[in-house]
Amino acid sequence: MPNFKNPSPPADGYRGRFAPSPTGPLHAGSLVAALGSWLDARKNHGKWLLRMEDLDAPRCIPGADQEIMRQLLTCGLKWDEEPTWQSKHQERYKKALKRLNKLKIIYPCTCSRQGIANALEARGVITPCNQEMVYPGTCRPDQIGTYDEEGRSSSEVAWRIALPPELTIHFEDLALGKQIQDLNREVGDFALHRRDGIFTYQLAVVVDDAEQGITHIVRGADLLDNTARQIYLQRVLDYETPSYLHLPLVLDEHGEKLSKQTLASAIHTENPQQALQELRKAGRHLGLRDLPDGKETSIAEWLLAATQAWDRKIIFS
Ligand code: GLU
Ligand code: ZN
Repeated sequence: MPNFKNPSPPADGYRGRFAPSPTGPLHAGSLVAALGSWLDARKNHGKWLLRMEDLDAPRCIPGADQEIMRQLLTCGLKWDEEPTWQSKHQERYKKALKRLNKLKIIYPCTCSRQGIANALEARGVITPCNQEMVYPGTCRPDQIGTYDEEGRSSSEVAWRIALPPELTIHFEDLALGKQIQDLNREVGDFALHRRDGIFTYQLAVVVDDAEQGITHIVRGADLLDNTARQIYLQRVLDYETPSYLHLPLVLDEHGEKLSKQTLASAIHTENPQQALQELRKAGRHLGLRDLPDGKETSIAEWLLAATQAWDRKIIFS
């Protein structure tokens, strides 16, 4: 396999990030991810970057990025470098896809969701409704070649990565410990580019984390399941693998993850008092106890105390 140079110089020191999708204002779950990643960066004297993951334009809400930034600032969570928007990074993703094409490990796919569901059903595979379908390899050619870039990059096809057989990824989560995923059995050849012309989260997050020299990824446990795919992509793109720390999810009263789809309500950050209330809730969710709870406590004081108390070992305690 050709040896590509890293796109960014080796990062010196800790570089973390918060990467919200601007599909709405912050809710309790995204504030936990923001606070947890900010605290871990501060505790380790690192940098904390803000990246708007706005590739899936149909799901993004105009102005949500500005609202998220306003909310973060009211909560005292300030980023250390210019924020970035994934929608401005199309060239990076194209380049990465071209590299994978040259390595002969991607292929075009024209399957619809229904087509995939039918192929699985024909094999007797039933996917529980809250799980992603394992791609059955319908479009995978026996021998993968290099595709003519101009001709085939039309928006009509998706591009999938061809996984090698026996691909079990092991990694150590800084809070959850040893993790293991058999990518063929649990995921299948996953998409890097969608039929509607949008680069997928998996590709974009890996390329941007590498380009930005991110060393520590701290995010919600709903993304734990994506990590093995991302580590595999880092390997084939010859990027370094950052450390991972997944935070406990905030669930609603029905035990479901908070998200736009479940109409998660925005946190209240109209004024510093409200913001501090939300921070306190998020802090308790991250295992932080005995922080200053007086009426006169300022956000800055609270954040300082929270940073001092921050400990990866207590997150799930
Ligand atoms: N944009 C993703 C989300 O909002 C998070 C990406 C990440 O932290 O890796 O769920
Ligand atoms: Zn297909």
